[in-house]
Amino acid sequence: MKSHYRVVVIGGGVVGASVLYHLAREGWSDVALLERSVLTAGSSWHAAGGFHALNADPNIAQLQAYTIDLFEQIQAESGQDIGLHMTGGLTLAGTPDRWEWLQSAYRVFQSIGVEDCRLVTPEEAGALCPIMSTDGILGGMWADREGYIDTTGTVHAYAGAARKRGASVLEHTRVEALEQTADGWRVITDKGVVTCEHVVNAAGLWAKQVGRMAGLDLPLSPLKHHYLISDTIPELESLDFEVPMTVDLEGFTYMRQDQKGILLGIYEIDHEHWAMDGAPWDYGMELFQEDTDRIERELILGFERYPALQEVGVKTWVNGAFTFSPDGNPLVGPVPGKRGYWVACGVMAGFLQGGGVGKSLAEWIIHGEPEADVWGMDIARYGAFASNRQYIRETTGQFYTRRFVMTYPNEELPAGRPLKTAPAHDAMTAAGAHWGVSWGLEVPLYFAPPGFAETPSLHRSNAHDIVGAEARATRQAAGLIDISGFSRFEVTGPNARAWLDRMMASKLPARGRARLAPMLGHDGRLKGDLTVFNWDDETFWITGSYYLRAWHMRWFDDHMEPGVQLRDIADATVGFAVAGPRSRQIVQALCEADIGDLPFMGCGVFDLGLIRAHVGRISVTGELGYEIHCDAANHVALRRALLAAGAEHGLREVGFNALLSLRLEKSFGIWSAEFTQGYTPRQTGMDRWIDWSKAFIGKDAAVRERDGPDPEQMLVTLQVDAAGADASGYEPVWQDGAKVGFVTSGGYGHTIGASLAMALVKPQAAAEGTALSVHIVGQKRAATVIAASPYDPAGKAMRA
Ligand SMILES: Cc1cc2nc3c(=O)[nH]c(=O)nc-3n(C[C@H](O)[C@H](O)[C@H](O)COP(=O)(O)OP(=O)(O)OC[C@H]3O[C@@H](n4cnc5c(N)ncnc54)[C@H](O)[C@@H]3O)c2cc1C
Repeated sequence: MKSHYRVVVIGGGVVGASVLYHLAREGWSDVALLERSVLTAGSSWHAAGGFHALNADPNIAQLQAYTIDLFEQIQAESGQDIGLHMTGGLTLAGTPDRWEWLQSAYRVFQSIGVEDCRLVTPEEAGALCPIMSTDGILGGMWADREGYIDTTGTVHAYAGAARKRGASVLEHTRVEALEQTADGWRVITDKGVVTCEHVVNAAGLWAKQVGRMAGLDLPLSPLKHHYLISDTIPELESLDFEVPMTVDLEGFTYMRQDQKGILLGIYEIDHEHWAMDGAPWDYGMELFQEDTDRIERELILGFERYPALQEVGVKTWVNGAFTFSPDGNPLVGPVPGKRGYWVACGVMAGFLQGGGVGKSLAEWIIHGEPEADVWGMDIARYGAFASNRQYIRETTGQFYTRRFVMTYPNEELPAGRPLKTAPAHDAMTAAGAHWGVSWGLEVPLYFAPPGFAETPSLHRSNAHDIVGAEARATRQAAGLIDISGFSRFEVTGPNARAWLDRMMASKLPARGRARLAPMLGHDGRLKGDLTVFNWDDETFWITGSYYLRAWHMRWFDDHMEPGVQLRDIADATVGFAVAGPRSRQIVQALCEADIGDLPFMGCGVFDLGLIRAHVGRISVTGELGYEIHCDAANHVALRRALLAAGAEHGLREVGFNALLSLRLEKSFGIWSAEFTQGYTPRQTGMDRWIDWSKAFIGKDAAVRERDGPDPEQMLVTLQVDAAGADASGYEPVWQDGAKVGFVTSGGYGHTIGASLAMALVKPQAAAEGTALSVHIVGQKRAATVIAASPYDPAGKAMRA
């Protein structure tokens, strides 16, 4: 072992080995992997080695596709056989809703460029997998590039290929402690001390302890998982092909061929956590006793699906453990506040996802940003709230149990809730609020009469008309919405203005004004669609999406400068927005000052009744409207005062679902849909807010985009000839049978009475009036490009 490496990767499972390989491939060879035992000695040695294409997050599905494409490459580079069996794969649907969902998923794959899939009938599925009973199957999806690999061979291939590029692999070297230094980390091992600039926690089952070595409490836990390997199945002996990797979603099982038998893996409904603080240090390459009582229901379904199992014995049982984060996706990236400490853990499907995780993390360490949009696996999608033990137990358990259970887009799952509630939560609940969750905080979706229950659906739900009434009330009179679920950062200090000016690509607002402010990364891609407020005293606020709080804070911290104080005030400050043509009268009724003096995009501090509030004249609804921020202690009083003042003006409490419909009618983009870290200003129209005359982070790249060729995609608004279901996101957009783009978000425009979508399409399909089509819940629907902002295109209402 040398005394210093540029990067030390802790953990020689598939994830650590992939990180090492990708660092070396990017040209960093002064890197070492430390493994306490031998390579694969965590979850990796006993994994089933299966890989398949589906993931609910299209960006992660793309990284999975990358991993699958990498297998042959690491085998060739390393010379290590990885036992690749590209058998193809089947995903089965056993209920009408699932079949619709699978057809939608197939279309999403087309959107993201995973082209080697097709839908199959039950008969075709039966022919592709002759040992399977097709009873109850309504259809399936076939993917060419699914199958299985030899797990130990694959880890050694990653490590071997990394070694060939100059990286070091040190087995039997256990990391015992970590100490942060001025320029990196001291890594204390049982074989001595090594220093490095960057340390990567890829410790799998032990990631929790390796997190604690740096004072971190990572939101993850291992759970147990079973599979069995059968004795030889005579029908398989007579086949001249291998049966495909087959996932029976309604049966909670996955299956692949193993020699002349099959491997049947089970996602247990009755899940079991293990070693929530991380595996013990003396845990070796061990398995747990199988627990067939616990998995009886799933076994019965599996034995019915593959009847040959009823005739042959079980050769091997595997009951092992692997690690889960609350949403089941990996935890990857730099840890806020711990410079040079990176995580690549919580990787539930390391053989399927390890390539994409390794690639993204290596790019991040070396270039400062990963190439792909990795929000879905970024550690910064969680905050401190997610480290709570019960939260971890409930959410990881829920994910595990529901791994193969269908979640509807309008379904609210209960784990880890309610956790954070705004002070007026109970009063809003009494008024009929139905709640969603954002970063642990309960946010109102809509207000319904007592006893109303929303039916989970892929189509418009029974809450459609309720949301419609809220949207119309806002346009006709006024809507009141809890805006506690905004992020709020306060920026003060002698350098506040100069610092913000560098961080934001837009002009900064003058005193008493607010401004929409795109923020860019160094690579010129979007980092935020923020609003900056400049209060009277040159105190600035940055507001944005609540769930991006830790993500933005990490970025701000990384670019902090002397003379700037930045505070996250999003929990201490909450509020309500009032929007609609009557909103001015409502706010005025509480205010002695003349609120009419506040211009569009103006802001100031006002006394509203007893409450001192920060008020901005701004609304995402496209109406005249006010965002009213107050101390958390005033939240209940503010709501009461506004409702009282609004009673004679038709003020109605509304939820975020109405807001989403209203903003769509204005073609206002939102983060995670029209704007993401994968997109650029010109592509999304964000460039209209950029102040090209000043210096800001990402300017060079943004100028190159501005002066370069036309972007390959442009953001447009579509009116869709939908029937009973609206677009939601990632549906493919077609022109004369050719794919020209995909939907970024969609929904029903309740006040204009039309189904709408926003989409990124090729320039030749972007002109107003162009006839296109969109797949919605598997069905092709006609769509037309319309002018942006179908409601009030001139913007008169919001400027009124
Ligand atoms: C029964 C079962 C079946 C599975 N089937 C599949 C499948 O079909 N497909 C799939 O993609 N995934 C599957 N998985 C999941 C897969 O096993 C994991 O996602 C994967 O192994 C995680 O790899 P890792 O590198 O993150 O962690 P691990 O494999 O746990 O590796 C972590 C390594 O870090 C080392 N380490 C820890 N602490 C230290 C330290 N302080 N110092 C030095 N070294 C340290 C450990 O010894 C270990 O080798 C399955 C899991 C189980 C349990």
